[in-house]
Amino acid sequence: MTSAPVPTAAATRDAAGLPVTLDAARLREDFPILAEQVNGHPLVYLDSAATSQKPLAVLDTERDFLTHANAAVHRGAHTLAAEATELFEDARATVAGFVGARPEQLVWTSGATMGLNLIAYSIGNASAGSGAPASARLALRPGDEIVATAIEHHANLLPWQELARRTGAVLRHIPAHDDGTLDLDAAAALIGARTRIVAFTHVSNVLGIVGPVAELVALAQRVGALTVMDACQSAPHLPLDLPALGVDLAVFSGHKMLGPYGVGALYGRSDVLEALPPFLTGGSMITTVTLDEAEYLPPPQRFEAGTQPVGPAIGLAAAVRYLQRVGLERIHAHEGMLAERMRAALVEIPGIRLLGDAPNAERVGLWSFDVEGVHAHDAGQYLDALGIAVRVGHHCAAPLHARYGVTASVRASTALYNTTDDVDRFVDAVAGIRPYFGA
Ligand code: PMP
Repeated sequence: MTSAPVPTAAATRDAAGLPVTLDAARLREDFPILAEQVNGHPLVYLDSAATSQKPLAVLDTERDFLTHANAAVHRGAHTLAAEATELFEDARATVAGFVGARPEQLVWTSGATMGLNLIAYSIGNASAGSGAPASARLALRPGDEIVATAIEHHANLLPWQELARRTGAVLRHIPAHDDGTLDLDAAAALIGARTRIVAFTHVSNVLGIVGPVAELVALAQRVGALTVMDACQSAPHLPLDLPALGVDLAVFSGHKMLGPYGVGALYGRSDVLEALPPFLTGGSMITTVTLDEAEYLPPPQRFEAGTQPVGPAIGLAAAVRYLQRVGLERIHAHEGMLAERMRAALVEIPGIRLLGDAPNAERVGLWSFDVEGVHAHDAGQYLDALGIAVRVGHHCAAPLHARYGVTASVRASTALYNTTDDVDRFVDAVAGIRPYFGA
């Protein structure tokens, strides 16, 4: 058997043609948790697709805010409240800028799951006749169609199932080929005159493949359908310009991109956000209120009822600045190198079946695989005993696993702080799984 050359931390070139590499060993100093021992071994953390680790800059920023500037935003007339409001709105501008958006196009959420539910519930409200006259264009009627892909995380599937049930719309699915890429011929046939919403992930959390966003947006635009993109698994790993991608709405989670838990964002094209009725109602999202009715603020505040995750949002802005300082191009190249190195070793191990091993697909640094004759949970425990943290299960994508005839897989996912050493320790350990279990 001939082996492909093993990728190393090869240099990419910057605009001036100079080699640029990401020094992961140096970055690790910013993430103290990576120096932990687990089960008597130095930790190899390969579960960043579930949640990333957080650099000191993020922890310090949130703590500094709470120590020196904490107050209720948008309300108080006192100095601290003004300072807190400024930090909070600066954070919005930073995170919006990270995805190429303007501040008023960015709504704080608790994460991607809330963002996707917000969209689906708001469209449900528009369908029930609520909202401004402009909301009517988002309303669904019985027989209208929502098209999602068959590879989605449950967070980008269940809200559409619920919306379809509430409105009488029909949910249809774009199938995937065996190699994990979407069947675009089927997509072209599915997306038609009745299609009102097309929902898809930018990067699959199981396959690691970057999806055909331009093609899906073009198909949706051809019939005037709204596009909704899940950017959870792309935001921390590659340069993201949501307006340039042409999607109408997109969501991502802070905790997967070096940021705190409990904060995420919804991006929306301005005219779409303007037309969407609110999902949650209450304080902080109104202009006037009487006992019988209320007028709502424009976006983004219209979607931010109640007290917001102020500290986490300010922490997320620090995470974004950290990612920007390292450089998303560089992160993408580094993680691509790790993924290639991982693949080169995994395909040599008997009984390992990679899910979504599409040739020439653009990818992030993530592989899920089946270990023949060994349950994924047993494989995960074996790796954990060696200090290697991976995710096992269906990764909240049960239909995709069913498509591959399995109920669970092992997933190893990288971030900017992973090294070739992490990959080598991981693949060496994977080689021991089947012999250990006598498979
Ligand atoms: N979409 C994708 C692709 C994901 O990977 C995840 C997290 N596993 C989510 C949505 C949901 O994110 P959260 O749990 O942060 O809301």
